Formats: sequence, C-alpha cells, structure tokens
Amino acid sequence: MERTKGYPAALDKKLQDTRLYLNDSNPEFTKNVKAISRTNAHMCYQCGTCTGSCPSAPRSSYRIRLFMRRAVLGLENEALTDPDLWLCTTCYSCADRCPRDIIPTDVIMSMRNLAFKRDIVPVNFLKTVTAIYASGHGVPNNDVNRAAREKIGLSRDPPTTHSYPEYMPGIRKILDHYKLKANADRIIKEREG
Ligand code: SF4
Ligand code: SF4
Repeated sequence: MERTKGYPAALDKKLQDTRLYLNDSNPEFTKNVKAISRTNAHMCYQCGTCTGSCPSAPRSSYRIRLFMRRAVLGLENEALTDPDLWLCTTCYSCADRCPRDIIPTDVIMSMRNLAFKRDIVPVNFLKTVTAIYASGHGVPNNDVNRAAREKIGLSRDPPTTHSYPEYMPGIRKILDHYKLKANADRIIKEREG
C-alpha cells in the first residue's frame, strides 16, 4: 500500500510533456528581461562560450547558455522556477568572453529580479535586506570584531552608519520606497512562520 502512495502524482510528473509549444513562450518575458538587463539576449547564437567559462557549471546542473535560450524563447516559468537560477556567482567571465557582446550575467540578474516579484527567492537575500534595514550593513559589525579593531588601534566601529546612525532613516526610506523590507518580512514569515 505504502509503495503506491502518491503514485498518480509521481506518474504525472514522470510522463510530463517536455516538448516545447509556441504557447509556452511569453514574449513579454523576453521584453522584460531586455528592459531590466539592458543587454541583447536575442543576439545569442548558442555558441556555449559562456557555459564553458562558468565556474558554477562543472559542479552543478546550472547552464547559463540554457538560461540564455529561455530568455530568447520567452520560457518564463522554466527560467524563474529553476533553482539553478541562484547558482550564478556574478563573476562576469561569460560577459568578458561572449562573442556577441551580450552580458549573460545581467540576464540572470534580471531573471532574479522577476523571480523575486513572484516571491521566488532564497531566504539569505531576505535576511540581508533585514540586516541592511537594521544597520545599513549586509554584514554588520559585532563585539568580537569591535574588540579586534580596538586591539589594532582602530575605532570600535568604522566611520559608516555604525558610527553615524543619523543616516539610517535615508537608507530605510530607499528600502521602503521599493517595499523591500515589507516583502522580505512577509516572505520570511510565510516560510518560517
Ligand atoms: S557566449 Fe554569448 S553567444 Fe555564446 S551562448 Fe553564451 S550568451 Fe550566447
Ligand atoms: S557570471 Fe554567472 S553565469 Fe557568467 S560565468 Fe560567472 S557564474 Fe557563470
């Protein structure tokens, strides 16, 4: 009995139609990627130099060339729901070498932006938003560092928002303008309760 539990759903997944249909293409996605990334993904002719340059490719299933194809074909769901989207280190090696002068890194960044608008985002990005909102720093100072700084003759806090918290309202205003903090709080709560 246990062995057949959930079988129809698993079968559904196994027999999923993997062919691409014209209807799967959302031209708006291609346009949005271009508008946000400000690079010409549609010029890609799939030479593979980007994937050949990518430090993430040998250690994972992440393939930047595949994401370029998805950008060109308007395959929004495939691109935005793929966990590999978050494996780009933004090293820009692909951008340095693309023979078509495309910046694949920025295509990825635009897709991450669009994914975030659908609440698809790893939680560490949201925690960084929270840290910046609280202190102005993605990696705030702490007491161990303060003691270490003191030991080498530095002030306990650097001359940043840590020392000048009066600049924090300005930073919070920017984050609030884009509703980043509110969205980060909401998504963290939904995931972690
Ligand atoms: S290097 Fe440039 S042209 Fe070649 S596959 Fe990658 S994005 Fe396309
Ligand atoms: S920028 Fe991203 S996609 Fe391009 S080579 Fe570096 S890790 Fe790979």
